[in-house]
Amino acid sequence: MPAAPAKMQSEPLLIRMHDRDNVAMVANNAGLPAGTVLATGQILQGTIAQGHKVALLDLKKNDAVLRYGVAIGYAIEDIAAGSWVHERLLRMPDARSLDELPLATIKPLALPALEGFTFEGYRNPDGSVGTRNILAITQTVQCVAGVTAFALQRIKTELLPNFPNVDDVVALEHGYGCGVAIDAPDAIVPIRTLRNISLNPNFGGEVMVVSLGCEKLQPERLLPPGSIALIDQRQSAQALDVVCLQDAAHVGFLSMIDSIVRQAEKHLQRLNARRRETVSASELVVGVQCGGSDAFSGVTANPAVGFCTDLLVRAGASVIFSETTEVRDGIDLLTARAATPEVAQAMIREMAWYDAYLQRGGVDRSANTTPGNKSGGLSNIVEKAMGSIVKSGNAAITGVLAPGEKLKSKGLTFAATPASDFICGTLQVAAGMNLHVFTTGRGTPYGLAEVPVIKVATRSDLARRWHDLMDVNAGTIADGSATIEEVGWELFRLMLEVASGRKKTWAEHWKLHNALVLFNPAPVT
Ligand code: CA
Repeated sequence: MPAAPAKMQSEPLLIRMHDRDNVAMVANNAGLPAGTVLATGQILQGTIAQGHKVALLDLKKNDAVLRYGVAIGYAIEDIAAGSWVHERLLRMPDARSLDELPLATIKPLALPALEGFTFEGYRNPDGSVGTRNILAITQTVQCVAGVTAFALQRIKTELLPNFPNVDDVVALEHGYGCGVAIDAPDAIVPIRTLRNISLNPNFGGEVMVVSLGCEKLQPERLLPPGSIALIDQRQSAQALDVVCLQDAAHVGFLSMIDSIVRQAEKHLQRLNARRRETVSASELVVGVQCGGSDAFSGVTANPAVGFCTDLLVRAGASVIFSETTEVRDGIDLLTARAATPEVAQAMIREMAWYDAYLQRGGVDRSANTTPGNKSGGLSNIVEKAMGSIVKSGNAAITGVLAPGEKLKSKGLTFAATPASDFICGTLQVAAGMNLHVFTTGRGTPYGLAEVPVIKVATRSDLARRWHDLMDVNAGTIADGSATIEEVGWELFRLMLEVASGRKKTWAEHWKLHNALVLFNPAPVT
């Protein structure tokens, strides 16, 4: 981990992640001009922008360029010490073969249990705990989205003020449900995603469905008998609560709206009767994600999140990390950290599935990086992945979920998802997260209606400019004014405040809600 650098911004501020590294990252806010003499004696050959890499020694053509102690690429020409090392000078390493990976070879040190931390949450009939008390209106198909949105406005203005213990009402709008090859093997992914989203702990076990009537995804297919019994045995005794727009009883648009509003009121009454109670921090289910990453992500925010992940695991909580293309290049580090060979094999199964999925589309993992990643100093997916997996901390990996599956165990779980912010977030909602942590370097106003999102800035400059969007500034780690541990603890404590409803995140304050975006690897008809 980087040593805390000098305080003066005019002094060259370089961050080197590993003893083996032959490049270091320029941390100075304005970058460094040509001619700057580094403490290690090299003279900068040209201007190097913040977040970008400088060669610490003369590199020959084909030499490995090392960051995080691993080869992030190979020099395609000689690179003199003091030169800018950017993506056009690097040949990307091949993806690590999925054969002969180390399986559960590292036994992570047993971390001491962290006891005595609690938050105020809503205990659900199935034992899970919500951090918010929200009525979610499930939809079987996109066709009903406009009608449901109309009803939602009426519910919010006419009903919600009468139920002060209910935080919000959300319509779970999506693009699926009809016009899709619903019997294709991969259709299981969007279908179980929608099902498990309805069962998210923040919705209190109250499930109501709006259906069109003729769609492929019929309500009984979305939520078969027994699926709700998992969360609420009171409701399982009754039929699934469905408002069907094509029902002959509906005469005119407003009669549909009346039906939805009437049904919503019953659920609101039950939700409103609930109260927060003190529960152990072990009831947290935290999804961690990054987006709009830069070269600081793996230096400041993600290591702080990783430290916090370890705190959560020590407290007995659940942490979900994801983003398959961003762990692919670190897969050997993760299979080694799996608690058992079976967990490691499950990770490999998910990597292989995703490799094949990308190949089918004529691309590979390198399709992940964005123009913003590159101007932020990230040369390629290998470098991005090394910074991304740090969010998973150091604990043993005890669970693996295929896309859309619901969490089965506490501790650290890898939930296979695309890295797309919205799709990853949607799948983590389905996995059952009740709190979301999102790190960003370039800056994104990301937020979800379903689960509070705590955003962590990787750089102080971003935190300053986006002071009313970023909840935590991890840039203090690069500035030398805070340590990874300090920011990790700050985040942990903030999580308990947000989970308890005592604090709102900025995304909640401004009601910044990104769409639920389903991962549908199956064909559309
Ligand atoms: Ca992402």
